[in-house]
Amino acid sequence: TKWVYTFGDGKAEGQSAMRNLLGGKGANLAEMSNLGLPVPPGFTITTEVCTYFYDHGREYPPELQEQVDTALAAVGALTGRRFGDAEMPLLVSVRSGARASMPGMMDTVLNLGLNDVTVEALAGSAGDPRFAYDSYRRFITMYSSVVLGVEHHAFEEVLERYKETKGHTLDTDLSAQDWKHLIGEYKALVKRELGEEFPQDPQAQLWGAIGAVFGSWMNPRANKYRELHNIPASWGTAVNVQAMVFGNMGDTSATGVAFTRNPSTGEKALYGEFLINAQGEDVVAGIRTPQDITEAARIESGSDKPSMEKAMPEAYAELVRIYGLLENHYRDMQDMEFTVETGKLWMLQTRNGKRTAKAALRIAVELAGEGLITHEEAVGRVEPASLDQLLHPTIDPKAERQVIATGLPASPGAACGEIVFNSEEAEAAKKAERKVILVRVETSPEDIHGMHAAEGILTTRGGMTSHAAVVARGMGKPCVSGAGAIRVDYAARTLSVGGVTLKAGDVVTIDGSNGQVIRGEMPMLEPELSGDFATLMGWADAVRTMKVRANAETPADARAARTFGAEGIGLSRTEHMFFDEGRITAVREMILSDDAEGRRAALAKLLPYQRADFVELFTIMSGLPVTIRLLDPPLHEFLPKEEEVGAFAAETGLSADKLRRRMTELHETNPMLGFRGCRLAILFPEIAEMQARAIFEAAVEAGKRTGEPVIPEVMVPLVFTKAEFDLVKARIDAMAKAVSQETGTQVEYQVGTMIELPRAALRAGDIAETAEFFSFGTNDLTQTTLGISRDDAGTFLGPYAKNGILSADPFVSIDQEGVGELVKLGVERGRAVRPGIKLGICGEHGGDPDSIAFCQEVGLDYVSCSPYRVPIARLAAAQAAL
Ligand code: ADP
Ligand code: MG
Ligand code: MG
Repeated sequence: TKWVYTFGDGKAEGQSAMRNLLGGKGANLAEMSNLGLPVPPGFTITTEVCTYFYDHGREYPPELQEQVDTALAAVGALTGRRFGDAEMPLLVSVRSGARASMPGMMDTVLNLGLNDVTVEALAGSAGDPRFAYDSYRRFITMYSSVVLGVEHHAFEEVLERYKETKGHTLDTDLSAQDWKHLIGEYKALVKRELGEEFPQDPQAQLWGAIGAVFGSWMNPRANKYRELHNIPASWGTAVNVQAMVFGNMGDTSATGVAFTRNPSTGEKALYGEFLINAQGEDVVAGIRTPQDITEAARIESGSDKPSMEKAMPEAYAELVRIYGLLENHYRDMQDMEFTVETGKLWMLQTRNGKRTAKAALRIAVELAGEGLITHEEAVGRVEPASLDQLLHPTIDPKAERQVIATGLPASPGAACGEIVFNSEEAEAAKKAERKVILVRVETSPEDIHGMHAAEGILTTRGGMTSHAAVVARGMGKPCVSGAGAIRVDYAARTLSVGGVTLKAGDVVTIDGSNGQVIRGEMPMLEPELSGDFATLMGWADAVRTMKVRANAETPADARAARTFGAEGIGLSRTEHMFFDEGRITAVREMILSDDAEGRRAALAKLLPYQRADFVELFTIMSGLPVTIRLLDPPLHEFLPKEEEVGAFAAETGLSADKLRRRMTELHETNPMLGFRGCRLAILFPEIAEMQARAIFEAAVEAGKRTGEPVIPEVMVPLVFTKAEFDLVKARIDAMAKAVSQETGTQVEYQVGTMIELPRAALRAGDIAETAEFFSFGTNDLTQTTLGISRDDAGTFLGPYAKNGILSADPFVSIDQEGVGELVKLGVERGRAVRPGIKLGICGEHGGDPDSIAFCQEVGLDYVSCSPYRVPIARLAAAQAAL
């Protein structure tokens, strides 16, 4: 088996299409080599080795050693050096690279191959020996923490103490002699911690580092990251071994990261940061404040440090040439890592850059405009779920802001909440349903869970590519980074800036679009839905074949639904209209009366309310279909509580004893499987009749008002047999006739049913004989198919997902194999009997992209979801149709 693939010198054994085997980083290093770009030579150990490693008790395939030796010799030949050589030593980096990018999640070791002998050779060969010792001390630190398990901060402490005694502030102030001295201290530290010398044998170093990268695939951070991003553990990581180039060789050397377009806004301009005389991890770690790449960005940021464009014009010109080339080649925005060694630019990584939803929209629309991609491809470029970010509120610009500090606008959107200073508190607050802003000096991968729990993130150190910034953008959370004026005191749990001191629990607002930190809670504004958003949604609508409707009953929700582009209402839950003041008493009277007479009296009070609700709904949705579901509550949701019985009796003049007796009669052990849905309408037909009357009278009135015909779709819930449906339908038809006669207007309508019980799906053929439409109620269908009550599933669904028993929460994403099978059967059997039957889905799944793809596959006519998810559903439905 071939386990190792080489790259460098204008060619490579791999290419970008081989990302499953080579990992994203390895595949793109190969691709860049093939394109003739300046990439330091190296080789990739495949993801298959990782899989082998874990399948064989952490052993390597027997042929691996030889293949690595051969590849390493080839790299040496290209660089004129030899690994471990005392005169011309080859130094390498050992870099992880999974199939899906996992930024900062895995460990990298730089400057490998240095020891007490090779460091002298390096010092002798360079103009300035300082860089050799600087590299060695970096190597000892990295290798010790990544491979040997000595804590990074132990080295930091030694360094800080030394800088203090010498009166230095910056690492760059330290001389060759200083580093030489520190190397001695570092080695002593390792000896103290481990009882062993720091490994001097380059071969031992190399295999130690390779083992550590494979080992890091299963470390807790990587596991957590995969869990959050649904990356299977079986994918494995590749290991890249690559000749070092040095950004720390003095003032003509540098290291940096750049995006071909702005990852926050999508603006087409080279964007990024770099540091002179530094190595890769310095930029991300936020130890020194990085400099801008372009002069335009420097002017905008007001930085007094020169841009790369000014400081290194040749390397900059080369970067500009390469970025254009890469973007054209990949036809997408690229996120690049580079190093300049004594004036020469080297490319170390490229990948499709992560971006905010706003940037994703703009980039997709502009790439299409530039003719680089088609409209359909543009539609496929935006993650539907990410649109959620754009639907987030921003701070009302008219509101007065008490800005206490300004950092970098690291991830857009505004958020407010109570201050917390660590991730554990953030998580605890989230559990208690409190909103918090996570405030840290800087974040590390250990903070992921806290960042998830927080509404927004504020750091006092680090740039636009710091950990906090990158991760927050990925999560779609507002983030302000590097607000350096703020002093955080973790022990006192306070932050202070310009004479203001805030404690944990005090409320702040952050504006991730301009970097402001604002005291107190700010009024927010609803998002703008024009521009790129409208353009891309237009393209999505053009390819989409399923309709998208909304679940809505209140006028506010119906209006929001229309704004977001809903093409009708797929589910209007009439019971939600019964809780309002003035109505609930009548509802209770209706339920608690023990004869039809009493029920009719109570219903007569409800009729005008219902009619008015429907008139408003039909008017707002004028011209679009509206599905109204007849009353479907478990009755207990409406009953007065024991302590309310006295007051209720007094209010209605009923006897409290009689009320209690009736409540006992109505008591159910399993209300969700009890007297609800069409069962109510069958035993108390007057309820369905009142609702039907309200619907039809409202349709006539709204039709007159708007001049558009209103065709309500009346939906009968929770049937399991045709006989139930027919009984209720007969009442509805009779009422339609009555209202037509009374008003002299022919009412047009449809009557259909929800398919939300397994038996209904199985008998869909019979039911379709009389039902004109089906709406799959996959919430109840999931509950009844899996025998799981959604409200009681909390204790075991989490562990089920963790142990791989369920791949996703079946209430979030439809269980395609089980519940989905029933939906498929229902579709087939329903269509066989009534070919034109209208088929839709309502419930949570209607707004979930994976479930929407499934709906497309089984051939539904529409999905219906909550108003705020309508844009997500429109885009997901378009992608499903591509
Ligand atoms: P990550 O996946 O966390 O980004 P990388 O493997 O990309 O880790 O390494 C991080 C940084 O280390 C790179 O951005 C680069 O600056 C530096 N680096 C990696 N390999 C080399 C190399 N061969 N020469 C110089 N710098 C390197
Ligand atoms: Mg990288
Ligand atoms: Mg239901």
